[in-house]
Amino acid sequence: MILTVTLNPSMDSIYFTDTFYLGEMNRCKNPVKAVGGKGINAGRTAAILGGDVTAIGVLAGMNGEFIRTALKQEPFHTHFLPISGESRNAVTVMDQEKNQTEIVELGPEITAETAKKIIDTVIDFSINQQNDPIIALCGSANTNNEYLYQEYIQQLANQLPRDIKILTDISGKQLTHALKGTVKPFFIKPNIHEFAELLGTTITSKKQVIDHIRHPLFKDIPFILVSCGGDGAVARYKDRLFDVIIPTIDIINPTGSGDATVGGIAFALDQGLSIEETLRYGMACGMSNALEQAVGFVTVESVDMLKNNIILKEL
Ligand code: ADP
Repeated sequence: MILTVTLNPSMDSIYFTDTFYLGEMNRCKNPVKAVGGKGINAGRTAAILGGDVTAIGVLAGMNGEFIRTALKQEPFHTHFLPISGESRNAVTVMDQEKNQTEIVELGPEITAETAKKIIDTVIDFSINQQNDPIIALCGSANTNNEYLYQEYIQQLANQLPRDIKILTDISGKQLTHALKGTVKPFFIKPNIHEFAELLGTTITSKKQVIDHIRHPLFKDIPFILVSCGGDGAVARYKDRLFDVIIPTIDIINPTGSGDATVGGIAFALDQGLSIEETLRYGMACGMSNALEQAVGFVTVESVDMLKNNIILKEL
């Protein structure tokens, strides 16, 4: 079973435009509207693949109600707590040059009380499972507590009697603190920019990722995947290092590819698959998402097909 946590769901609008000029009127023909948020996208991906997924999170205001209605159509179970404020809007503009410009609202505040209710819910769900769940903590949170995810990981370790796998797809200070906590996440997925930011250095190539992936900051993290967009990824699993090479594809919309990657990884870990197969699922899901207009969406057919075209070069 897979539990995903989304503390900042969104109403996503994706505008495909012929041109995108700053300071001018830019028209768009077919806007795509969808429910988003990293944990929701990852959960959708894992559920499409056949995983048993429950998405947990918060919803606020009119947007929250809209999202709640839309979630009824999703292939996963949901448990979303109503909170005050307004769930955010996130706008992505994809222009003909394939530039991706995003405008993302902050979202409703996650108070200490809300944060506690959410982690209590995750613990309740986990305790009631026969098998150890995979728990994916995904995305930003509008909170003044920079240690929120570090605390979540600690609380899960303290209160769950089993050796559960915690995956995180977070960035910035939350990730930095999560890496420095007493209990570490099982898996992290920074993209190449987040990886560079973590290390406070400039990293623009896979070669540089490979040079830095054994940095002491990640020492006790069993599984790290640095996703590199169209260049695939670099992954370390325990003491094994992989250059994950993907074929070139004609992308339509890569928004949410990282979320889909996390969904694919969560699915494969939940199925108890090998590290090689897990990496293939992660990459194939990121790519499958990039082949769709929809965000955080994959098809089983394309994942199955793409999975066979991924080269794992062990370093
Ligand atoms: P994020 O969305 O978190 O920034 P990435 O952009 O690194 O993450 O994408 C995650 C994965 O999705 C990549 O490792 C790759 O498998 C796939 N992907 C993303 N962009 C492309 C692309 N342009 N071409 C092919 N695959 C892509």
